[in-house]
Amino acid sequence: MDFSKACILVVDDSPFIITKLKKMLQDDYTVVSVSSGQEALHFLELKNVDLILLDLLLPDLSGYDVCKQLKNNDKTKNIPVIFISVKDAIDDQLNGFELGAIDYIVKPVVEPILKAKIKNYLELKKRNDKLERSALVDELTNIANRRYFNKALNQAWNHALRKHGYLSLLFIDIDFFKAYNDFYGHLEGDHCLQQVANALKKSIHRPNDMAARHGGEEFTVILPDTNVPGAVKIAQHINNNIANLKIPHVMSKTNTYVTVSTGIISMIPTNTLNCIDFVNKADMAMYESKKNGRNRITVIDADLNK
Ligand code: GH3
Ligand code: MG
Ligand code: MG
Repeated sequence: MDFSKACILVVDDSPFIITKLKKMLQDDYTVVSVSSGQEALHFLELKNVDLILLDLLLPDLSGYDVCKQLKNNDKTKNIPVIFISVKDAIDDQLNGFELGAIDYIVKPVVEPILKAKIKNYLELKKRNDKLERSALVDELTNIANRRYFNKALNQAWNHALRKHGYLSLLFIDIDFFKAYNDFYGHLEGDHCLQQVANALKKSIHRPNDMAARHGGEEFTVILPDTNVPGAVKIAQHINNNIANLKIPHVMSKTNTYVTVSTGIISMIPTNTLNCIDFVNKADMAMYESKKNGRNRITVIDADLNK
């Protein structure tokens, strides 16, 4: 598969149509195909595509059903869907648009028109993806921002609640950072925040782990399926990676280099607590670290407090 090209999924039960569309598009795009609605949904659970050409009349689910399910799923809702059908009634077309399709093309397909439309919709998707990303990523450090963190934590919390699995959260605050800024200047301060953010990113490896900038010089790390020993290990790993940066901090009262104070909360979520309490507890644990001398890790094992 050529990953430099955009990927188009054709959903059609006619091998003739699939071959025809592939011929039209394969010079410019990677074209993959399936021949039923269920296959399409299954395929999209596993793979990413940039645009979908969807037949209306399929052997199992109708194209409408497929479109509806795609638009109700966070993972697939932003993929442009173009219906391609012999059905030319206005109501059929309107129904497609109401379900969230970006276009409805009546067969026979006119090659240059289809190509022009696909080009425009892919451009639009690229722009929308970029916009969506910029709303979720912190501009200075290039890691997740607070909004993205809230969204991801909510998902991780609900997932752990359903699966009775562990969830850990690290709350990390740079020590004496006001003094750092006052002494080294705001630009150096910004650079320090970028380096710390990179150290966080470097310290986590699982696909669902997430490091975020909570605001100012405060960071968070979400660790799904991770218990206390696992979370402590990651926190130590973070401390080591920050220590290895050796960012001089002559105004720090705990070390000659930049350090952080960390709070950890780890638990199997229950309905007696919510996400906001969970974050507050991690924040409280972080303040314990500050109170006890900074440059340290404090753990709240919520399961022991039940
Ligand atoms: P503590 O060890 O108790 O955490 O003390 P602190 O000085 O780190 O904490 P405090 O909350 O008093 O100060 C945080 C400072 O972080 C204030 C501000 O100078 C700095 N800061 C917040 N956001 C930014 C930013 O985007 N860039 C820079 N350069 N500095 C920032
Ligand atoms: Mg702070
Ligand atoms: Mg601080």
